Amino acid sequence: MTSSNGFTDEQKQYLAGWAFGSDVARAVHDLPVLSSSAAKGASVQLGPAGASVTEPPVSAFLHPDRLAIAAQDRAMAAGGKLVKEEQAKRDKPPLDLWDQMRREAEAGQFPKGTDVFLYKFHGLFHVAPAQNAFMCRLRMPGGALTSWQLRGIAEIADRRAGGYLDVTTRANLQLREIRPKDGVHVVQELTDLGILIRGSGGDNIRNVTASPLSGIDPHERIETLPLAREMHHAILQRREMYGLPRKFNIAFDGAGSVSALEDTNDVGFTAVEVLADSATADAPAGIYFLLSLGGITGHRDLARPTGVLLRPDECVEVALAIVRVFIAAGDRTNRDRARLKYVLDDWGFDRFLGEAEKELGRPLFRFPVEKLDLRRAEIRHSHIGFHPQKQAGKVYAGVALPVGRMNSEQARAIASIAERFGDGSIRLTVWQNLIVAGIDERDVDAVKEAIEACGLAWSASNVRGGLVACTGASGCKYAAAHTKENALALADWLEQRIELDVPVNIHLTGCKHSCAQHYIGDIGLIATKVEVEDDLVEGYHVFVGGGYGNDAGIAREAATGVPFETVPATVERLLSAYLRGRYGAAESFVAFARRLSDEELRSVAAGHDNLIPAA
Ligand code: SF4
Repeated sequence: MTSSNGFTDEQKQYLAGWAFGSDVARAVHDLPVLSSSAAKGASVQLGPAGASVTEPPVSAFLHPDRLAIAAQDRAMAAGGKLVKEEQAKRDKPPLDLWDQMRREAEAGQFPKGTDVFLYKFHGLFHVAPAQNAFMCRLRMPGGALTSWQLRGIAEIADRRAGGYLDVTTRANLQLREIRPKDGVHVVQELTDLGILIRGSGGDNIRNVTASPLSGIDPHERIETLPLAREMHHAILQRREMYGLPRKFNIAFDGAGSVSALEDTNDVGFTAVEVLADSATADAPAGIYFLLSLGGITGHRDLARPTGVLLRPDECVEVALAIVRVFIAAGDRTNRDRARLKYVLDDWGFDRFLGEAEKELGRPLFRFPVEKLDLRRAEIRHSHIGFHPQKQAGKVYAGVALPVGRMNSEQARAIASIAERFGDGSIRLTVWQNLIVAGIDERDVDAVKEAIEACGLAWSASNVRGGLVACTGASGCKYAAAHTKENALALADWLEQRIELDVPVNIHLTGCKHSCAQHYIGDIGLIATKVEVEDDLVEGYHVFVGGGYGNDAGIAREAATGVPFETVPATVERLLSAYLRGRYGAAESFVAFARRLSDEELRSVAAGHDNLIPAA
């Protein structure tokens, strides 16, 4: 309907709630958060004294980036200076870069200056000087893809990239060694495969993760893959979801056998149960999601439960409201503080959730966390090997990939196994391995043979099954060490010397960005350069006792600046002390490490072996 001033009702709602551009930017700079739902009335005064926003230019309510630009305006009006990435986004909206990218591809050119950053919004990373090539990061909600998609990706990897695929710690895939003329074609061909990668890098909501066994896990509380998919599409269809001040992670965990590591995310949804004896009229007995906020392990923080309890069908809407608050309130002047954690630190949970409620236009429901059943059926590394599904007669196969890498031939072989023996689906895990689902029990031996025939493994030692490494120096300019290569060498060393009867997670990360999340590993290594006889060599700081889920906690430093040459022996000493000093096999490595003092941990790592006698 069109009113007397020429605006439709919908446009009037925008007029009341949103403002954009120089005409009205001053009007919003001092609003803590722009609230769409709070402004459903044309009488709201947004402007400076007396400046009623009644007839701004049409662009004020149509511009798709209004939320982000208003946030930048407020930062500058408050005396701040936008960081160069914010200025770059303001000068050249990254989602409108496609024509330039096509031209540069035709000319065989890589992007220059801040365009390198803007290309990441389209999933293309120019990773020089580590490699003078593009890396392309995909986007697949919940890490799930079909056999034909995997086959198609292998084909692209052969024709336009390095002939291999890397599984990431967000249950995602990356292609590397892409020439400048091929970058846009990789994006197009992935889109043809139904893999929409917009926003897989840059200041965006990254691949939405879910429990990798969603729908097949006999122990899960609820399927999470449908929610990850819904979230994924909610992001893709809303341009405002590309206006963040920094990257953002969302995960759904169904509390089943394999964790989605949701407590390492900015927003984590964990399936919980309200049991009959805790049920109320507002919270009948059943399955809900508990909302946690602010996980960012590189900054030594895990997501903390808010007490907000959500029905499954509310989660996506609430996540969108939270992201909108973050877009409006996140720091645009300091990249190090431009994460949700810092808004939460500054505001506290109550104020933040209050702003989210304004966005939603309704209160969020709280429930005492101590009255919730939080138990998880988590079994570490349970995804490697063959395990029964909830569907009678069916099993899934967990395939171990050496620190996440498979070549295109192996990817095709996995696709064939999924088609011939499984239900055609493949799930990637945050542990950089993969799962083939829906295998008939009778076919287990044939599947074992097929996995071995392509050079991959359906079993892994208790060291290798939980070995995680980021890209490292062979493909990332930030890396201080060759993390993937070092991880494999470390596993070789340990497997020859130690017989571990329980799984232990070892995470190697190349820099402070902590893509391999070293702070939540049983043993976490972060790369550094170490001076050895006038040379700078690759080395690591060694952390011990991190965990997630039931064992959530940040690791403590046990050794500082260890040259990689002696890292394997250092890790061996820690594991040997554990085997010798634990209270039986029931005591996990993390429990053992946490009962040692900082001094004891450092002594063991340094080689004072007699410190920990047999328990
Ligand atoms: Fe690169 Fe650092 Fe991430 Fe490793 S942790 S992939 S070195 S940014």
